[in-house]
Amino acid sequence: GKALVTGANGFVAMWLVRKLLERGFSVRGTVRSESKIAPVKQAFAGFGDKLEFAIVEDIAKEGAFDEAVKGVDLIQHTASPVHLFSVEPDEQIIPAVNGTVGILKSALTYGTSVKRIVYTSTCGAIRENPTTPRLFSEADWNDAALADVRARGREADQLAKYQASKVLAERAAWEFVDKNKESIGWDLVVCNPPWILGPTLQPVSKPDDLNESMKIWYYAIINGIDASGNPQKKEFYTHFGMTWIDVRDVAEALTVAAEKERTAGERIIISTSPWKGQDFLNAARKFYTNVPVGDESYDPATATHLVTFDTSKADRLLGLKYFTIEESTRDIIEQGKAKGWI
Ligand code: NDP
Repeated sequence: GKALVTGANGFVAMWLVRKLLERGFSVRGTVRSESKIAPVKQAFAGFGDKLEFAIVEDIAKEGAFDEAVKGVDLIQHTASPVHLFSVEPDEQIIPAVNGTVGILKSALTYGTSVKRIVYTSTCGAIRENPTTPRLFSEADWNDAALADVRARGREADQLAKYQASKVLAERAAWEFVDKNKESIGWDLVVCNPPWILGPTLQPVSKPDDLNESMKIWYYAIINGIDASGNPQKKEFYTHFGMTWIDVRDVAEALTVAAEKERTAGERIIISTSPWKGQDFLNAARKFYTNVPVGDESYDPATATHLVTFDTSKADRLLGLKYFTIEESTRDIIEQGKAKGWI
């Protein structure tokens, strides 16, 4: 089959393109400009003409994907603004929502061979910020982020702006499918990963140019600073925490989600385990001694995790075995050493 991958030069998409090519798919990747093609092409040179490109300058524009969806069996939509520096929430909401609804619309009209669309959403569209430990499932939505953005606009929490863009985009996707169910010839699968980490395939020459989730990891775990360059708060290492998944597992999950009949119409949380920053520091120290100390009194056995996810659906439908914190951290550090970043 042939797969369309949007935002093909991204952190997740690069691994996904690789996985799809390895599984025998031909891939058409979209990027925003001509100059972004060459490095991606080079990374997959071994696959020859199994990989082609389409330039979609602005995913938010009406009909942006009309040409790109033609002749593909599978669409993997990953392109979305993933960062914590928007001023107006719409800077993220408009490309996230219009890009997602836009590709579904294009598929409805021009994607005559499309059988499935897989959308990469996020656990950030599911979980809120509980003050006591809470287990979230696919039935949950992060309405708190939306409320924050609606109430405070540009003053809203930066993460909430991003999360709101993903809540709105994912909801719009499900609504589109529901409204058009009589006329669409494909089904939708949504995967919701939490913080994604792991070695990178995208063309970057220094940690500063990494995608947002890896940059935050690099700064916090290797350099002991936050994304603004200030010393990382002690809470990051012992109090703050979330759950995570390795980028290679995300690529595998998105691929299996595309291949299996039984995932049709499902929203699936793909998440490994909860963490505190200190868990990553402790893992990193095994492979690289020059990491921040953090808080040596930390005991993972007594850590309180406010957010955990029910991952039984993914176990049932996808049945994957995930990388551990130690394995993923090892591979990030090995890559950092090989590239001369650390
Ligand atoms: P990256 O930033 O590495 O890649 C994002 C891709 O989307 C790039 O190709 C980028 O193009 C493109 N893109 C961003 N903004 C726009 C825009 N306004 N118009 C067109 N294209 C745009 O992100 P990730 O690989 O980390 O994320 C991929 C997906 O996974 C996203 O949908 C994200 O929400 C989701 N996700 C990511 C998590 C993470 O921790 N990384 C966690 C959970 C979900 P360009 O390079 O030209 O900017």
